[in-house]
Amino acid sequence: MANRVSIIVPCKNEEEVLPKFYDEIVKVLEENRYTYELIIVNDGSTDGTLEVAKELANRNSNIKYISFSRNFGKEAAMYAGFCNADGEYVAVMDADLQDPPALLPKMIEILESGEYDSVATRRVSRKGEPVIRSFFARCFYKFINKISDADIVDGARDFRLMKREMVDAVVGMGEINRFSKGIFGWVGFKTYWLPYENIERAAGTTKWSFFGLMKYAVDGIINFSEVPLDIASWFGMIMTFISFVALVFIVVRRLVFGDPVAGWASTISVIVFIGGIQLFFLGIMGRYMAKTYTETKRRPHYIIAESNKENVKKVN
Ligand code: UDP
Ligand code: MG
Repeated sequence: MANRVSIIVPCKNEEEVLPKFYDEIVKVLEENRYTYELIIVNDGSTDGTLEVAKELANRNSNIKYISFSRNFGKEAAMYAGFCNADGEYVAVMDADLQDPPALLPKMIEILESGEYDSVATRRVSRKGEPVIRSFFARCFYKFINKISDADIVDGARDFRLMKREMVDAVVGMGEINRFSKGIFGWVGFKTYWLPYENIERAAGTTKWSFFGLMKYAVDGIINFSEVPLDIASWFGMIMTFISFVALVFIVVRRLVFGDPVAGWASTISVIVFIGGIQLFFLGIMGRYMAKTYTETKRRPHYIIAESNKENVKKVN
């Protein structure tokens, strides 16, 4: 195979699994005689991840490391990888071996056949995951696909292999608030979906808390849909209409029957209810404003403190 493969591995505190990952991936790559580069992105680890990466780079000249000045998050780490990968094919993989390296040859073969621009993976089961988490995850995918025009697949992982054209398109999407699952869907191209059984982490711990995932879901919705804003304005219009009709009704009743107003408690509860709804929708608008604010600052996605890769884009 002539095409060079770049493999991007975002790493935060992965000193424990990184050597295992290295052994497995390099075995697969060398058995199949691919030309490759493995880009280890050290995303502000506080353990020995960088030392491990440097040691691997000393052992094997195909290993490149990019080390951030602090933790910028997995999205930024992937972006740094995309901006600096120079292979014809580019893959993203987690360091924890949840993305099986053994799938790579098959993925490369599918791209080689020329019919597809990208091979993405999705897990068919959520085995080993808490039940509530799976439930909310399912709801999230149903909801976001209804309200956004990016095609976001349930169970999709970030593990995917792309052709140069698609990587360039992803790099071209320079937004700071990155939601890769949405970005990959939004840029289009022909994608082959490869299903596989969920695998648990080889070592170390997940960086996701339940609330972290919730926030991720809300960000995903806000980054790829304006429907919450529409809901807010529709709701406002309907409420205005109903209260106008009620007002007419009450005034007419007062004029015709002259009855004294009863029901203080119900009045207050309606006022509190409306107040709550208003604050809720104000909150939604605030989320969009905050996103706009961070986008307009045009701060870099990441800052690289050190790297052994030539011509590395230090800031982007
Ligand atoms: N990761 C990262 N920066 C972060 C958090 C995570 O680069 O701020 C990396 C992490 O090292 C791993 C990948 O992203 O290689 C996926 O993280 P994790 O396994 O914790 O997520 P999960 O598989 O549970 O979704
Ligand atoms: Mg993982």
